[in-house]
Amino acid sequence: MTRANPFQSSSGKKQSSSQQNHPTGDDEFPEPTTGSGFNMWAALQSVFSVAIVIATLFTMWNPSNIFSNQMLDRMFKSSAYEPVKATSIPLTPTPSPRPRIGIVAGHWGNDSGAVCQDGLTEVELNQKIATLVRDDLINEGYDVDLLTEKDERLFEYTALALVSIHNDSCDYINNDATGFKVAAAMSSVFPEKASRLTACLVDRYGSVTNMKYHPNTITKDMTNYHTFNEIHSETTAAIIETGFMNLDRQILTEHTDLIARGISQGVLCFIRNEDLNNKPTQEPTP
Ligand SMILES: [Zn+2]
Repeated sequence: MTRANPFQSSSGKKQSSSQQNHPTGDDEFPEPTTGSGFNMWAALQSVFSVAIVIATLFTMWNPSNIFSNQMLDRMFKSSAYEPVKATSIPLTPTPSPRPRIGIVAGHWGNDSGAVCQDGLTEVELNQKIATLVRDDLINEGYDVDLLTEKDERLFEYTALALVSIHNDSCDYINNDATGFKVAAAMSSVFPEKASRLTACLVDRYGSVTNMKYHPNTITKDMTNYHTFNEIHSETTAAIIETGFMNLDRQILTEHTDLIARGISQGVLCFIRNEDLNNKPTQEPTP
């Protein structure tokens, strides 16, 4: 400790006595600012000198026509013209269209579908439900196309989702002929989306209407539904049979708003990517 201080002080003296020496990396003393200032000044001088030489050469070798009035005029005109050209591009804001959903009222515009003995037809029931679903989804901020069974718009139809609404037979089959069915268009290029739309419809429709789901009675008529082959392959589509017109007649005709809400909630679940795990919690298996 007593040795170190005299050594450092002598080094400091040596440094201050000859400021032009380059400091070594080991030197603990800061370099005097006058040294760096001197270097900076020298560098600036060099830059100015070079600049003056270049400018002189430039004006010597490029006579007055470069900076003639004509040339300057042209430069100003071109530089002045550019911003005018840029701002003259019409900036018409194209309003982004509202997201679209398609709802098919099964058999509408084609045939009556199932018919009850008292004259109630499937098509009128489908149409009533589909209209309520459309109103629900419009209230939620979507554009909705209410489509007929063989609507011309279905060809290459593009939408966030397409749901076709049908109902089952009005004949008495057996006591199990009650509840709803859902089938997705698996021909979609995004089968996982089709599965999700199905899952959403099954979950929401079931919980809103409290009706039973019939996964085992889905017919080929549903899975090979003609509409699925017409629409754009990127449109996620499903068909729902909202109930049997015989045993489910009461809820279908007297609580049609519930039937419709079940469907629209299912569509919203899919479009908004809602959580499907908010079901009643099951006890964990031991
Ligand atoms: Zn039908």
